[in-house]
Amino acid sequence: MAVVRRRLIVRGIVQGVGFRPHVHQLADELGLAGFVTNTADGVVVEIEGSAADVASFTDALVERAPPLAVIESVEQHEVPATGTGTGSGSGSGPGSGRFEIRASVAGAAATLVSPDVGTCDACRADVAEAGDRRHGYAFTNCTNCGPRYSIVTTIPYDRANTTMAAFIMCAECRAEYEDVRDRRFHAQPVCCPACGPRLSATINEIAAALRDGEIIAVKGLGGYHLAVLASSEPAVARLRARKHREAKPFALMAGDLDAVNRLCVLDDAERELLASPARPIVVLGARPDADIAPSVAPGLHELGVMLPYTPLHHLLLDAVGEPIVLTSGNVADEPIAYRDDDASTRLTPIADR
Ligand SMILES: [Zn+2]
Ligand SMILES: [Zn+2]
Repeated sequence: MAVVRRRLIVRGIVQGVGFRPHVHQLADELGLAGFVTNTADGVVVEIEGSAADVASFTDALVERAPPLAVIESVEQHEVPATGTGTGSGSGSGPGSGRFEIRASVAGAAATLVSPDVGTCDACRADVAEAGDRRHGYAFTNCTNCGPRYSIVTTIPYDRANTTMAAFIMCAECRAEYEDVRDRRFHAQPVCCPACGPRLSATINEIAAALRDGEIIAVKGLGGYHLAVLASSEPAVARLRARKHREAKPFALMAGDLDAVNRLCVLDDAERELLASPARPIVVLGARPDADIAPSVAPGLHELGVMLPYTPLHHLLLDAVGEPIVLTSGNVADEPIAYRDDDASTRLTPIADR
């Protein structure tokens, strides 16, 4: 059998979207040898086996790419075979064990990192499931969802290059991270209550403070936001005064599409946009009877609304039971704060706790 080896350089949004696991699974299915690695120039794959299998692999690499990947180009080079791909071929099936994910190679930045991705249904189910080890855990994520861009400190996209670097994975998270069949295989921010970040107060305490009209600093994996109850005029007005923000409207977060529909008139396209993975803020026509403080959007008949995009948001909105204002944790035009020491000094005059 003629053995060929091909080097592929895949560019686009291919880091932090489950691309290396995708490559690994394809190689296993076809029984091909080689490796995949993240570099600053893109994802580099070398694949070795029969010419037909290598061609199938190259097609499937693009055709079956993970949903969040955006492939801009695939550069291909034939390279000398190393002999690791002999004797495999279509018949050998999965688990040949000769395909590996190699450590990332640092270098000049040319690769795009995915935007943050709203919590997937499977992670929401983990958080809701009473017996799950991530039950109620605000920072649950997986290969298909979670923070990306907002936690990256440099590329290539690897845990060591994110704000999660300080959290050492526990044995259970490590096992998920290393299991190619697991939904958390190579999910860089993977964590759990045993090894990941913790909230400084319980969800119920935070929800109670919000209902009492307090301004709360909410720290996600990517930075701080400030939250207040959207129906409380004194709370929203106080937030506006403390942020030195005179009139620019605040964005709202509502628990689900039904909750949005109680505030605003919604068509199908707007529903789809609200629920899309990036969970954008969508500007919608406000219902005249919406229970929203006038200071949220002074003088406007429109509201900027988004759906929860992290487990923390889902838990918080469920506990509060009504929409909140969520705004970046900065004063006027300062950049968003994210380091603990930074935030505690800059946010103290703003947040009630
Ligand atoms: Zn997920
Ligand atoms: Zn863990």
